[in-house]
Amino acid sequence: MSELIFFKPFFKQVLWGGHRMRDVYDYPIPGDDTGEAWVISANSHGASTVLGGTYDGQSLASLWEDHRELFGGMEGKEFPLLVKIIDANDHLSIQVHPDDEYAFAHENGTQGKTECWYILDCDEDADIIIGHHAKSREELNQMISQGRWDDLLGKFPIQKGDFFYIPAGTVHAIRKGTLLLEVQQNSDTTYRLYDYDRLENGKPRQLHLKESMEVITCPHQFMNTMGEVEDHGDYVTCTLVNGPFFSVSKWNVRTHVSISQDYPFMLIDVTAGSGMLDAWPVKAGAHLLVPSDFGMLNCQGEMELIVTHV
Ligand code: ZN
Repeated sequence: MSELIFFKPFFKQVLWGGHRMRDVYDYPIPGDDTGEAWVISANSHGASTVLGGTYDGQSLASLWEDHRELFGGMEGKEFPLLVKIIDANDHLSIQVHPDDEYAFAHENGTQGKTECWYILDCDEDADIIIGHHAKSREELNQMISQGRWDDLLGKFPIQKGDFFYIPAGTVHAIRKGTLLLEVQQNSDTTYRLYDYDRLENGKPRQLHLKESMEVITCPHQFMNTMGEVEDHGDYVTCTLVNGPFFSVSKWNVRTHVSISQDYPFMLIDVTAGSGMLDAWPVKAGAHLLVPSDFGMLNCQGEMELIVTHV
């Protein structure tokens, strides 16, 4: 019989981290500087492991390796997606990621990184950086070399429930006071454009100006990927993005709904509330994989689910 596969996150302590994941999700974080939880990850830099059930204790990477039937026999050397929760207690560096083509050529045949963010919680005055205002590549290079960051970068106020799609080539930065869920291609390649002139152990962190300027989309292309909100009474649903690498939607369950599993696999992040997914009780902070042959998933309770498939 097919079962839901739950994961235990891998935590990462960083200079800009905090303790919001313990406050909000009751996670056993390793310290008050926890910035990232890799909640569904087969990445070698931080693997999540299965919590309970038939595959208890195994890594997602080993399931991908040895039990490809769980993923509908999907092809590929590496599990394609990575889901993280990020707690920014300080600004993250201004950065950009390469696309598949650039990463393949310049980063040892790895894949690029398109990502998206769902804001779980944030301070009242929190904002986010997405895109830039340069009209041409010459103007972009000039503004960067002159350090005119305030003129260059697109800054937007944010609130809980906002969603942002960040295709490869988009300049972006998460800022202080933000807790978010990130769904991305399984890649760890980041080019740092600007780090607020901060020092780490007395030294500035390495920047990657050449690579950044090569991969930044210019002029910036603003994308609103969200679909209509559909209210069905017992539940409300909304497509957040339907992109080339992943499709993400939000399901707000008021009483119950059945979600049909029609994909190689589906990932579910319970971001608020609690209830039952088939026979499994869940609450906010649970992250799981619905394998390929699961069929109908019955959801009962009052909860918010972020559902992702390739
Ligand atoms: Zn990023």
